[in-house]
Amino acid sequence: MVNYKKILVTGGLGQIGSELSLELQKRYGIENVVITDIKNEIPEVLGQNSIYLKLDVLDYEKLTEIIKKYEIDAIFHLAAIFSGRGEEDPFNCWNVNMNGNINIFKAAIEYKVKRVFIPSSMAVWGIGIPKENVSQDSVLRPTSMYGVTKVAGERLCEYMFHKYNLDCRGLRYPGIISSEALPGGGTTDYAVEIFYEAIKHKKYTSYIDKGTKLPMMYMPDCIKATIMLMETDVEKLTCHGDYNIAAFSFTPEEIADEIKKLIPDFEIDYKPDFRQKIAESWPASIDDSVARRDWGWSPDYDITTMTKDMIEKLSKKLK
Ligand code: NAD
Repeated sequence: MVNYKKILVTGGLGQIGSELSLELQKRYGIENVVITDIKNEIPEVLGQNSIYLKLDVLDYEKLTEIIKKYEIDAIFHLAAIFSGRGEEDPFNCWNVNMNGNINIFKAAIEYKVKRVFIPSSMAVWGIGIPKENVSQDSVLRPTSMYGVTKVAGERLCEYMFHKYNLDCRGLRYPGIISSEALPGGGTTDYAVEIFYEAIKHKKYTSYIDKGTKLPMMYMPDCIKATIMLMETDVEKLTCHGDYNIAAFSFTPEEIADEIKKLIPDFEIDYKPDFRQKIAESWPASIDDSVARRDWGWSPDYDITTMTKDMIEKLSKKLK
């Protein structure tokens, strides 16, 4: 295992950041994980002894103060504006995602941070991709501003590696399904909302249309992939900011059928909104053979085991 002394997480109160921070605390010690976000309140799940600091990633001075003070040697940079919210204000999405990335790169180079993780997304794909098994090297022509910032982020990771020897890594996350923090305005949020509504009201109106198949992953696998990649020796990597990873894919009616096995009177109907267009530009399945070959990636959950676990966890939480 790589021995990081102090880890910085940005966007640490988000859907992925909050669960990743918990796992990093378990692995590296609660006193060695500095959780930051633009939000004020730290959720109970992270525990009172967590180190939490308010940080806007656009504030370079405060970012570097934290890196210096805590002698940070690894950064998980998760602060970003998501696809759905990004389309409501594309220029703000560019500003936060790109200037946030640039601040992280500059600070990491200046203070000799050992490793940096910047997630990418399946939103990097768009025009001209095959629908099934989209490969590591497929054409990147995104249709959302969020996707544009993710392509630029990937290319910058690679550039910083070659130009400054900065060890920067990233994964193209599919839609992430989780039972703790709610997702922050992405196109695949429906795949989390459907569970809450199924348990609370036995009914869900999907803003993604029938027949739209998208790649998804359960949070424990997302966390596992992130930590595995960050603990792999750099010599093994053939990609820097942009590893494809996959677990399973489904349409809204397929996930509804899985839920019905456990909540038989659950019903779904459809009212597509602007996110349908974004979803249609994305692949239905992803070829992750390069990640499997380079660092031994494989997921633990499929659609059935994920659905069972989500319903068990959420039923307890919502009681
Ligand atoms: P999220 O929206 O739940 O969390 C992002 C966090 O960043 C939020 O807590 C928000 O308060 C914070 N933030 C926003 N602007 C900030 C700023 N200026 N300074 C500091 N913090 C700020 O997102 P998430 O799902 O946790 O995603 C984390 C990363 O993973 C993002 O880069 C996202 O693009 C990527 N990703 C997520 C998914 C998914 O399905 N969750 C899929 C693909 C990629």
